[in-house]
Amino acid sequence: MSKWNMIIDVAECTNCHLCTLATSDEYVGNEFKGYSAPMPKHGHKWIDILKKERGQGTMIDIAYVPTMCNHCDDAPCLKSARDSAVRKRDDGVVLIDPVKSKGQKQIVDACPYGHVWWNEELQIPQAWNFDAHLLDAGWKQTRGGQVCPTGAMKAVKLDDADMAARAAAEGLEQMKPELGTKPRVWYRNLAPFKTAFVGGSVARIVDGLVECAEGETVALSKDGKEVARLTTDNYGDFKFDGLPENSGAYVVEIRSAGGAKRVDVVVKDSVSLGEIRL
Ligand code: SF4
Ligand code: SF4
Repeated sequence: MSKWNMIIDVAECTNCHLCTLATSDEYVGNEFKGYSAPMPKHGHKWIDILKKERGQGTMIDIAYVPTMCNHCDDAPCLKSARDSAVRKRDDGVVLIDPVKSKGQKQIVDACPYGHVWWNEELQIPQAWNFDAHLLDAGWKQTRGGQVCPTGAMKAVKLDDADMAARAAAEGLEQMKPELGTKPRVWYRNLAPFKTAFVGGSVARIVDGLVECAEGETVALSKDGKEVARLTTDNYGDFKFDGLPENSGAYVVEIRSAGGAKRVDVVVKDSVSLGEIRL
């Protein structure tokens, strides 16, 4: 049976917030009986765009990551609920019942992703429900997916085996897979959100002028073993990306024809070493 999944391409998200706004437009002040009570005008972000900035100086990048209820197949929120107040539908969607969940604040605390919001006025937990009322009316896309101008957010309905094959083929990742919740929201290009880089610019003096050192070999080592090697680009830049955050001490070595240069670096988060003069 085919089920709903959301695929998000972090590299394509521009932080325009149209998906967040469209979701608010759909739910603020609107009740969909059997699906959701109105979303409060303030305080809730059922689709929340996270931001991760990496690096320093001229070597920085920013990743915007839309997040939302993951519609987990093994959902802690569901296990915490009394009276079947949270249920998993056959199409993969997780629904928090707006009537049965009244007073059940523990559902907010049970979500390890922080994607359940407490409605103080109505005394109910609420989360983005995959626009289930629209899907049931025949929509093929969610409000967020419909308005996204870059195609960064797309709902797809696939058999689980086909989705797993697609995830493997396209390198899609889930948020915090180590929790074992089996999310149905998948990310492409998530690496900048959760890994670090070490970069810098290699320069040399030529006829008294500072010039970018293009084509120099740069090696990255850890614990005495080379882990990566690059060649500087036409600006003399190099960037070792995808390193685990807080992964400790590394050595960057520029192997120039004129001799080697070594720089020690400790990786907590991303590091730009700035200019390295040969
Ligand atoms: S992300 Fe949180 S609220 Fe959504 S299904 Fe998973 S545990 Fe439940
Ligand atoms: S609408 Fe698309 S590009 Fe804009 S914030 Fe949402 S996912 Fe990102």
